[in-house]
Amino acid sequence: MTLSDLIFSNRFTGQLSADPLNENRARPVRAAFSRVLPTPVKNPHLLAWSPETAGLLGLSEAQDPLALAAVFSGNRQLSGMDPFAACYGGHQFGHWAGQLGDGRAITLGEVKTLGGEYWEVQLKGAGPTPYSRHADGRAVLRSSVREFICSEAMHHLGIPSTRALCLVGTGESVIRDMFYDGHPEAEPGAIVTRVAPSFLRFGNFELPAARRDRDQLMQLAAFTLTHYYPELGAPGPEAYLALFQAVQARTLDLMIQWMRVGFVHGVMNTDNLSILGLTLDYGPYGWLDDFNPAFTPNTSDREGRYCYANQPHCALWNLSCLANAWVPLVGDVTLLNAELQAFQQRYEAAHQVMMAAKLGFSGSEEGLAALISEWQTCLASAGADMTLTYRALADLAFDREAAPTFGDLPPDCFYTTVSPVLQQRWTVWLQQYQDTLRHARLGDAERRAHMNAVNPSLIPRNYLVYQVIEALEAGDKQPLTRLMDALKTPYRTQAEYADLSARRPDWARQVAGCSALSCSS
Ligand code: AMP
Ligand code: MG
Repeated sequence: MTLSDLIFSNRFTGQLSADPLNENRARPVRAAFSRVLPTPVKNPHLLAWSPETAGLLGLSEAQDPLALAAVFSGNRQLSGMDPFAACYGGHQFGHWAGQLGDGRAITLGEVKTLGGEYWEVQLKGAGPTPYSRHADGRAVLRSSVREFICSEAMHHLGIPSTRALCLVGTGESVIRDMFYDGHPEAEPGAIVTRVAPSFLRFGNFELPAARRDRDQLMQLAAFTLTHYYPELGAPGPEAYLALFQAVQARTLDLMIQWMRVGFVHGVMNTDNLSILGLTLDYGPYGWLDDFNPAFTPNTSDREGRYCYANQPHCALWNLSCLANAWVPLVGDVTLLNAELQAFQQRYEAAHQVMMAAKLGFSGSEEGLAALISEWQTCLASAGADMTLTYRALADLAFDREAAPTFGDLPPDCFYTTVSPVLQQRWTVWLQQYQDTLRHARLGDAERRAHMNAVNPSLIPRNYLVYQVIEALEAGDKQPLTRLMDALKTPYRTQAEYADLSARRPDWARQVAGCSALSCSS
């Protein structure tokens, strides 16, 4: 199928309330969305393409790059598209921020596939919308590349995420003050096209709830239930409670998945949490290199509110905002409270199963809780590289008389010298691990297979993405293509991509835009 064969069937604009004003000027809007056209760009050119996401839409491999660039820059509309920006609000860093909305994301339309699936196709960086406030509605190349890479990497890691279809350079520059320190610079602009069943966020529901706009809240909730959670039944208090439970369950699972691979979202505001439990809005995200639970890549987050270890807690906080918005739908606030109260325990149970799997176990073995907790202490106090160390642990041999010792781990797992006392602590742990494996009658081959299925060998570390961006800015697409290829099979040890699995090099530790990221995008 080519572009012109795509069939659009726009449920969002067809069934939800539209902003009556057809004017592209920043303003408060009391509707679910505003119709708005992308602002054309000077010289659109295709920088990257995801064949997997294209496949979701039914697009075949061979497409005319010029036509793609014209459509996915917003310069040309296809028949059936009905472009709009969504209206939502949100809690940012713990404070109600009021109306936010798609300030620079414009949904072109919903593609209906031959199989009957619907996919929202959205441009990010397509120009101002009624929600742009004082900003320009554009995105810089570096931030669009980051979103493109990570959306697809997440998918290949088996983690729910919005997807990325392509990356289009605009041929225009965008002015950004990257570190908000009075040094604005012109940077190349780019638009990323994202694809998801829906980009609805917690904030879409919070805004009508905060405005006491019951009709609009009801309409949006019914829309969500009918199209995305039809198995929960017809709209009504029971189905809405079930819907809240489902959103909570998916959000909880998402946290487990992020924790499993060491992903830090960076800005878990309620406007960045998906009602479908997808990873959404890739801004100053990052990955743990050395296992440091307090790590956040976001330099605007001085207190570490959204650091790695706090993410499950922030998810619960955000769910409590959503529960607030849900009160008119369910009626009985105690039912929602009971759900929130169950979160912690459910999270801990799921976390234990996930951590057990990372160590090769099924989760029912005795003494796991202590073993896991001591393992995390060892990782953190030695500053071990999270990704490399799990893979190295999988490779060690335990099917023998004496357990391996600290010295059997490759030195590459560690960023600094580990003290003798700490080394001894690791060795003791390795002995305990061997004991637990023996009790569970878990042999090396089976254990290794379990572990390598959940512990990736390749993640898009910040420094890798940084290098790709530098190359792209210099006109070289090859490193991006190569990284995207490697990220397709992140659980496989890939000799040809060994350099991409290497630990963070020293130069990358303090480089702006590499280890420390701002929200500027
Ligand atoms: P984010 O931090 O990307 O989640 O964005 C928070 C809010 O700011 C959202 O409403 C965005 O649409 C809006 N926003 C961020 N950057 C821009 C921009 N360059 N132009 C217009 N709106 C923006
Ligand atoms: Mg956002």
